[in-house]
Amino acid sequence: MSNRGTLGEYVGQPVEPDRDCGLCPRLVAFRNVQRAAHPDWFNAPVPTFGTSDARLLIAGLAPGLRGANRTGRPFTGDYAGDLLYETMTDFGFARGTYRADPNDGFELVDAAISNSVRCVPPENKPTTEEINTCRRFFAATMVGFPRLSAILALGKIAHDQLLKTLRIPLARHKFAHGAVHALDCLPGVRLYDSYHCSRYNTNTGVLTPEMFRAVFAAVRRDLDNR
Ligand code: SF4
Repeated sequence: MSNRGTLGEYVGQPVEPDRDCGLCPRLVAFRNVQRAAHPDWFNAPVPTFGTSDARLLIAGLAPGLRGANRTGRPFTGDYAGDLLYETMTDFGFARGTYRADPNDGFELVDAAISNSVRCVPPENKPTTEEINTCRRFFAATMVGFPRLSAILALGKIAHDQLLKTLRIPLARHKFAHGAVHALDCLPGVRLYDSYHCSRYNTNTGVLTPEMFRAVFAAVRRDLDNR
């Protein structure tokens, strides 16, 4: 990232939390319950998927209990991943065959995926305090992407997490599916919004595959024209 601006304080800070990160007591307790019940699951903060030379950073919400929390790779193993990875492949942001397994050899291309909250929250709902606490890792991750050109926020929580990371007032950039925001403090970086590709959103018609594809098409056009 050419202008680290408000992110300067995160330069050199840890990008990935410790496997036993203890900063969020409620999530630690939930993690310990899962470790006891499913010792073969990942059950730890889920690291970013992809390499830091990517131009596109996709910001998710948090690991799904039986998805990323089980497998250890973002969006891997649950319905949201099926839609996300199929769409990313179609638009050239991934290659290989996605088999819902971190050892499937599936790769991201010029893209990376990180969650706003790295640990699985009960009922997929992190608290405001947990989102705030985990922001340090999201911010440090952003700092480590020198070519960052586009951020795709999957859902309002990810959108807000990004704005708060950059200390931009939320009222300045309202979340809306399909919206594109130029970020004054990060010249050359655009923020794209999409409804989260959760099973709930697709089952209820809030997000259709076509709506999701339209967002990726816009990101693809943008990056191809730079
Ligand atoms: S959510 Fe983030 S800050 Fe909280 S315990 Fe997990 S890794 Fe640590």
